[in-house]
Parts: sequence; structure tokens; C-alpha cells
Amino acid sequence: MTEHRNIPISLPSTGEEEWLALKEPLLSGWLTQGPKVAAFEADFAKRHGVKHAVATTSCTTSLHLILTALDIGPGDEVIVPAFTWVSTANVVLYCGATPIFADVDPKTYNLAIDQVANKITERTKAILPVHLFGRCADMDALAELAPNIPLVEDAACAAGAAYKGRAAGSLGIAGAFSFHPRKSITTGEGGMVTTNDDALADRMRIIRNHGASISEEQRHLGPKPYILPEFNLLGFNYRMTDLQGAVGLVQLQKLDGLLEERRQWAEYYSRELASIKWLRTPQVTEEYSHGWQAYVCFVDETVAPRPRNSMMEFLQSKGVSTRPGTHAVHLLGYYKDRFGLAPEDFPGARDCDRFTLALPLHNQMTASDYRYVVAALKELE
Ligand SMILES: *Cc1c(COP(=O)(O)O)cnc(C)c1O
Repeated sequence: MTEHRNIPISLPSTGEEEWLALKEPLLSGWLTQGPKVAAFEADFAKRHGVKHAVATTSCTTSLHLILTALDIGPGDEVIVPAFTWVSTANVVLYCGATPIFADVDPKTYNLAIDQVANKITERTKAILPVHLFGRCADMDALAELAPNIPLVEDAACAAGAAYKGRAAGSLGIAGAFSFHPRKSITTGEGGMVTTNDDALADRMRIIRNHGASISEEQRHLGPKPYILPEFNLLGFNYRMTDLQGAVGLVQLQKLDGLLEERRQWAEYYSRELASIKWLRTPQVTEEYSHGWQAYVCFVDETVAPRPRNSMMEFLQSKGVSTRPGTHAVHLLGYYKDRFGLAPEDFPGARDCDRFTLALPLHNQMTASDYRYVVAALKELE
């Protein structure tokens, strides 16, 4: 390795086509939720095998919208994994309900099914499994464990991913996706809810739009300008702009190509890194079509030549950006203090927080970038 590189952990795949897509809404003057969002929703629903897709401002607001539409509130409990992005738990608190953490399996980074069973009470109103890094949670096992409790998918990382041949977002009562630039397709910020439930979709569309039961679009196009919407529900403004919708449409067309490329390079990493005894590469089986939002390894510090953090510093000095997979939410200040939680309460999440290592994986990387990352890691052996 002679030449020094700078390889970011993630970069969005946007360019000329997204730039051109912005022209139409900007010239037409229809800037907020309108025809582009409607088209993006229709295409997204089709790609994920669901009847309805409802665009929002983020995955976080999508999750909040779902829980609100399910009437989850004070006194209710929602089970969430202890290892996830913080907003999976935050949205439960936004509703005035209580997040009940369950531990994760450090082999999959997802909810450990045997840890969910003893968290279910008569107050449990939903389980919120996360398809972390693009690998779906074991949804059938959860459905079997809790047949009468709605499963809400945090599919932030799972655009285009599948489980036993079924798309993420079609596996529970509703799913929530993110279009933050760290995810495989992006609209800058943005989110999408998917569901097959007609009544839930209607409710979510109303709550997304201030609780108004006639959309702005209908009001503009309809023949009865004197009709004002009714406001029978407490709503929010969670509408996506048509600028984002236009970009999302282009990004969605690229999704399968982007995922295929990510899959090939994830396989390359797994092949090349298999000889490193202290590094466990992501586990995938036939049943899971991985979304590869991130390529997250687990460092076995009992046999590793140095601690994970020291490895991350070394890799950074070589210009290779890495990150911990995500957080153990029960160790974050707000949750630790408010709920009196200790690291050992969720040992799987604690270990994932300490020992996961996300390597750069994105669609702006070249073949030689991937070789460079592998060579840098092998220098650590
Ligand atoms: C990124 C992410 C979110 C938040 O998505 P936003 O669109 O930024 O709100 C939620 N959950 C998980 C698992 C994520 O990775």
C-alpha cells in the first residue's frame, strides 16, 4: 500500500438524473406533496409488494405516524430492540407509551426471539423489530410468539431487502423506511410507510396532513372550492415535498442495481476477510435477501491483536473510515438515567455496541478502494 486514500464510510448515489428531476417541480411551482410524491408512493408500494405506501419526512416520523395511527398511548408498552438507532425507542416515548427493551442476538444484530417472550405483558400493544443494517428480523418467529400483537417493522435500512421471498415492509402490520443519505437510496431526508391495511393507510394519510381528511391536492383540483377539510384527528405535518418525491422516484429506479452491486462487494469482503480469525463477517443465509445498508463485522477481542477502538484509529490513519454498527440504546444518557438501566441488563446489545465494526460499503467505491480496505485490515493481523 503506497498511495494514501480517503474512503468514507458511506456516500449517497445521486447525480445528474436527480438534478434534472428537480426541474419539473421547480418550474411547475408544485413544491410540497403532490404528483411526484404520489408517483413515488405508487412505485415504492409496487416494489415492496404492498397495497399502500405513505411518504413522510423521515423514518422517525414514519414510525411515529404508525404508532399514532395504531392508537398507542400512555399506559401502553412497545417492545424494541436494545441495539438500534435511538429513534426506534424515541418514537414510543413521543406517543406517551413505554419502550420495553429486549436484547439482540450478536450474530444477527436483530431481536433475540427468546428475549422477547418474557417482555410481553397485557399492556404490550406492538413489537417494533428492526431490520438492522438491511438484514430482516426473524418475523415468522415473532408472529408465532405473539400472534395477536401487531408487528411494526423498522425497515429504515431495508429498502429492497426480503425475508423468505417477501419484501421488507410487507412483513408486519406496517413498515417504516428511511431516505437519509446514510441509507442505500436517499431523498436528503425522507421516509415511507408501507402497509396492506386500508383503514390504517387512510388514517395515516390524514394524520400526516394535520389531521385534515381532504388532501390539499383534492382541494385544488376538486370542483367545490368551498369545502374545507374536516379535522377529526390530532395530526402533524409529516408531508414529503415534491422535490424529494422527484428525487425518490429516480433513486427507486436505481435501487435494484445499487443493491446488486452492494451484494457483490459484501460477498467480496466476506470472502477476503474469512481468514481473519478475530473478525466475524455478517451472517447471511438463503432465507434472507440482505439490503446491505451497512457491512457490519464483529471483533472478537479475546483473540484480536488489539481492541476494536484501536483498530478503528489505525484504519482511520490509513484513510479508511469505520464506525461502530449503532448504539446500545439502554446505555445512552437519556435512557440510562430515565429508566435506571445498566450495561449488563442487555449483554447482547452492550457487546454489539463495543465490538461491532462497520466497514465502508457504498456505490461510489471502486474495486481498488475495496482492495485497499481489505489490505488495511490485513495489516492488523
Ligand atoms: C436511520 C435509522 C432510523 C432513522 O431514520 P431517519 O429517516 O433518519 O429518521 C431509524 N431506525 C434505524 C434502524 C435506522 O438505521
